[in-house]
Amino acid sequence: MKRIARLLRRPLLVQGLLFCLLLALSAAAFWFATTRATRLAETGIRDAAGETLGLQAETIVSQLDKQRFVPVVLARRREVTNLVSGSPLLPQDPALRSVLEDTTWLSGSLDIAIADPDGRILAGVTGLITETIADSPGLSVPTGQGRLGRSSVKLANGKRAYGFSSSIRIGSRHAGSVIVLAPIEAIERAWTLSGKPVFATDSRQEIVARDLQAIEFSNDEGLMAMLHPASLAAEIERDGERYALFTRAINPVGWRLHVLENLRPIAEARNQAALISLLGAALLMVAAMGLANRWLNRIRQIRLERANAIRLERTVRERTRELSLANERLRKTQQELVQAGKLAALGQMSAALSHEFNQPLAAIRSYADNAAQYLKRGRTTEAEDNVTRIAALTARMAAISKDLQNFARRPQERTMAVDLRDVIDGALELTAGRIAESRASVVVDLSDEPLLVRAGMNRLQQVVINLLTNALDAMAQPAGETGSGPARKSRRGGKTPADLEITAHRRDERIFLLVRDHGPGFTAEVAEKMFDPFYTTKAVNQGLGLGLSISYNIIRDFGGKLTARNHPDGGAEFGIELEAWPADAADSGARPGLRQTVAAQ
Ligand code: ADP
Repeated sequence: MKRIARLLRRPLLVQGLLFCLLLALSAAAFWFATTRATRLAETGIRDAAGETLGLQAETIVSQLDKQRFVPVVLARRREVTNLVSGSPLLPQDPALRSVLEDTTWLSGSLDIAIADPDGRILAGVTGLITETIADSPGLSVPTGQGRLGRSSVKLANGKRAYGFSSSIRIGSRHAGSVIVLAPIEAIERAWTLSGKPVFATDSRQEIVARDLQAIEFSNDEGLMAMLHPASLAAEIERDGERYALFTRAINPVGWRLHVLENLRPIAEARNQAALISLLGAALLMVAAMGLANRWLNRIRQIRLERANAIRLERTVRERTRELSLANERLRKTQQELVQAGKLAALGQMSAALSHEFNQPLAAIRSYADNAAQYLKRGRTTEAEDNVTRIAALTARMAAISKDLQNFARRPQERTMAVDLRDVIDGALELTAGRIAESRASVVVDLSDEPLLVRAGMNRLQQVVINLLTNALDAMAQPAGETGSGPARKSRRGGKTPADLEITAHRRDERIFLLVRDHGPGFTAEVAEKMFDPFYTTKAVNQGLGLGLSISYNIIRDFGGKLTARNHPDGGAEFGIELEAWPADAADSGARPGLRQTVAAQ
C-alpha cells in the first residue's frame, strides 16, 4: 500500500500510467464499436436481402401463377381435343382460333400452341412457340392427368420466357399438349423497383431473368463463377464497390433467385463507429488528463504549501531565537545603563554633597578661627557674631541632611484631611523672606469650595515650598539661561505684579493646586529629566536636584499626581492633583474664597 502511495506521488509516472490505461481502454472501445457496427450492418444487409428475395420470389410466383392453369383449362376444351383427335382441317377452325387468341390476349401470354405427342405444332397464335420449344425437356413430357410441364425457354429472338404445358388426354391416351408462354419482362420490371441487382437462374445456372441493374453484372465472370455450385466466394467487386450475393430457391418454378447487396453500408457503419469511438476516446483522454493534471497540481500545491509552512515555522523559530537573544542583550545593556546611571548619579550626588558640606565647613572653620582670635583679644561681641554664623551654617547643613533623609526613606506621617488654604498660608509664610528678597509679587486665587485633601500637612507644605522656591529661582535667572519655553515671556524688571500665581479648584472628587511663574519655563530635555533625583540645572551650590524628585514621590504617596508644563502664555506651571477629602468625613472646612496678594517688599 505504501509503495503504491509513494508511486502515486510521482506525477510523470501517474500521467504515463493513466495514458497507457486510457489508450488500452480506447483500443478496446474502438475494437468493440467497429466489430459491433459491422455485425449490425451485416445483419441489416442480410435482413434486407432476405426481404428482397422473399418479395421478388412472390412477384415471380404470382406473375407466373396467372398462366399456370391456362394450359390445363384449354386441354379440356372440345375445340382442342377435336384438333388432336386427327381432323386435318381443324387447325383453321375459327372457333379454335378464337379460343386460342382470346385466351392469349386475356391471360397476357406471349403465345399459346397445341402440339401433337411428337412435339409438332398443330396450332399456335403468335408463332413464338416452335417445335424446339415444344420438344424441350421441361415441356415435352407432362405425364399423368393434370400434371404441368414447366420450363424457362429461350425464344428464337433471343428473349426469355417461361412455358407451361398440359397434356391433352382422350380417354387415358396422351393425345397432345397445350403450351402457354408466359412473359417474364413484367417480372423483371417489377424487380427493378427494388433498386438492387436481382436476377434468377435455372437449374443449368443460366440467367433466365434479371432486372436492369443486374444486366450490368450478367457478363461478369466473377459473378458467373460465384453462381457455380462449387464456388465458395460470396462477394464480388465492381467499380470499386463490393457486393455480396444472396440466393433463394423458388421451388415451384425451379429457379434460384439472386440479389446482389452493396456492402458499402458495412464500411460506412464501421467507419462511423471508428470515428465516434476515436472522438469519444480523445474526449475521454482530454478530460481524464485534465482531471489528472488538476489533481497533480493540487498535490504539488499542497506540497508547496506544506514546504512553505515548514519554512515559515523555521523562520519564526529563528526570528524568535534572534529576538530573545536581542532581548537578552537589551536587558543586559539596560542593566549596565542602570548601573552606569546609578554610578553617575552617585558621582553627581557626591560632588553636590561634598560641595554643599565643604562650603559651610570651610566657612565654619574660618568663623571658628576668627572667634578664637576675637576671644584672645577680648573682643567678645565679634566672637559672638562669628559663633552665631557658625550656628546658622550648621543649621543649613542639618537641613541638607534632612532633605537627604527624606529622599532615602519614607516618613511615618499618616495622611489625613488637610486644608489646602493652611498649606498655602504656611508655605507663603516660610518663604516670605525669599519672596521679599526677589521682590516678586504673588497672587493667590482659591475657589470658594472646600479644599480639603487627603495628605500629610508637613510634607505637602514642603512640596509647595519647593515649587515656590523653584519658581523664584527660575524668575531670578537672567532670561535665556535655563530653557526656551514655547511662550517665553521676559520679566519686566522682575517687579510686575502677579509674578507668581497660586490657584486651586475642585473638579468632582479631585482638587487641583497650580503654581505658575513668569520665568523662562523649561526645555524639552529638562522636562524629561526634572523629576529625576539629583537632576539640576542650577549652579553647584544652589541646588541638589532633589526637590522635584522628593515632591513627586510625596504627592504619589498621597495618591495624587505632580505635573509640569510650560504655560501657553509663558512661564512654568506645576500642578498638584490630590484626592478630595470626603465631605461627610469631617467638617467641610468651606471658607470664603481667598484672593490675597503678598506684595513685594
Ligand atoms: P533643584 O532646585 O535643586 O535644581 P529640583 O528637583 O527642585 O532641584 O529642580 C530640578 C530642575 O528643574 C531645576 O534645576 C530646574 O532646571 C528645573 N525647574 C524646577 N522648577 C522650575 C521652574 N519653575 N522653572 C524652570 N525650571 C524649573
